[in-house]
Amino acid sequence: MAHDHHHHHHGHPDGGHEHSELGPMDLRVRALESVLAAKGYIDPAALDVLIDTYQTRIGPRNGARVVARAWVDAGYRAWLLADGTAAIASLGYSGRQGEHMQVVANTPERHNLVVCTLCSCYPWPVLGLPPTWYKSAPYRSRAVRDPRGVLADFGLTLPASTELRVWDSTAELRYLVLPQRPAGTEHLDESALAALVTRDSMIGTGLPKLPA
Ligand code: FE
Repeated sequence: MAHDHHHHHHGHPDGGHEHSELGPMDLRVRALESVLAAKGYIDPAALDVLIDTYQTRIGPRNGARVVARAWVDAGYRAWLLADGTAAIASLGYSGRQGEHMQVVANTPERHNLVVCTLCSCYPWPVLGLPPTWYKSAPYRSRAVRDPRGVLADFGLTLPASTELRVWDSTAELRYLVLPQRPAGTEHLDESALAALVTRDSMIGTGLPKLPA
């Protein structure tokens, strides 16, 4: 698919990280980390654990609740797809890096994949911190050129007939994938369903877990 970055603004008006690996905020955080670690206030290993927690556990649980609600409530699902920002905010998830959300639904015919080709725009309020691979040059370039190859790298092989659609995030618009509800989950309640929703399934590089 063609990608012309002149068609969307990609700035970071909040003084973020546009087009550089480390923006002012990142540098300040790193500097603060170094000082605190040097003075013995924090253990860098513990910090890594904390960051991992926000990347994989706490952060994406918000998005998982959104997805689970959409799976059990058709009215909520319709609202979510029509006005993602408002529907997500109604569950209490809003704020920086999530001001303008668009939710894209996977169907048997179409699978959605989210990338930020220029940097690392990511919907913080629903997914937390972006994983390292999301910010990597290989992911950012290959997701557009060869999405099927990227999915294969993540262990996800879809039928050749499934259309792949790649969404390029910007500072103005962040995407959340609404995965398909797995088969065999009819008996599960909303919180049990949320436990099946993985971070990667909301980026498009994975699928929800299957029920035990
Ligand atoms: Fe970005």
